[in-house]
Amino acid sequence: MVSAQRRVLLKLSGEAFGGGSIGIDTQVIRRISQEIHAAVNQGVQVGIVVGGGNFFRGAQLSQAGLERSRADYMGMLGTVMNCLALQDFLEQEGQPTRVQTAITMGQVAEPYIPLKAIRHMEKGRVVIFGAGAGMPYFSTDTVSIQRALEIGCEEVLMGKNGVDGVYTADPRKDENATLLERVSYKRALVDNLAVMDASALSMARDNNMHIRVFGLEGAGNVTAAIIGEKLGTLVSN
Ligand code: UDP
Repeated sequence: MVSAQRRVLLKLSGEAFGGGSIGIDTQVIRRISQEIHAAVNQGVQVGIVVGGGNFFRGAQLSQAGLERSRADYMGMLGTVMNCLALQDFLEQEGQPTRVQTAITMGQVAEPYIPLKAIRHMEKGRVVIFGAGAGMPYFSTDTVSIQRALEIGCEEVLMGKNGVDGVYTADPRKDENATLLERVSYKRALVDNLAVMDASALSMARDNNMHIRVFGLEGAGNVTAAIIGEKLGTLVSN
């Protein structure tokens, strides 16, 4: 049993939900839900920020001709669909959940209320945060750091597709690339090591929020990361 105090923020990108294409891959979401539930059963409090890149990315839509802010709002709405899918599979596992969104939509989710989110987690509910920050020009990576700070998580767990941590170079292009067990915020920023976007990383650095980057694909990895096993790469000072 993990100490009752452990509270983490899991960031799941939209790419993970879509299995690489538009829409949702239910098999992937089911497996991730089972693993999250197993970790909560071991006593960890879990908040989740969900991305939306499997539906829309504002920057891409604006390149295709949409006004940027509206495109970003479409991106944020996409994250909510992922939240509802994740909620559904978690509830099917018997895991109580709440979705809280940064854009109010009372029929499908609670509004984002940090103290209420903490209360839910203390009661063993998984809280899924949707609609990013509710503001254009932000990313769900930045929101994951912000939510973790505000609701008192000890680390942010960045689940990645196709890679199991941070490497010295892109392992798909460079066969000499090696996995780093630890990397500093500064190096991740300066060397532009694909961890998360720069604004998210600098917010983590400024507030010393630890980030563990790990691969979502290996069976059991999500549970292991949530209960505190040292897989992948730790980004810290
Ligand atoms: N987005 C936004 N503000 C936020 C979070 C997200 O405008 O606070 C928009 C932005 O257009 C982004 C899209 O929502 O491209 C999907 O989020 P993100 O790209 O972070 O998802 P991920 O890459 O994790 O799938």
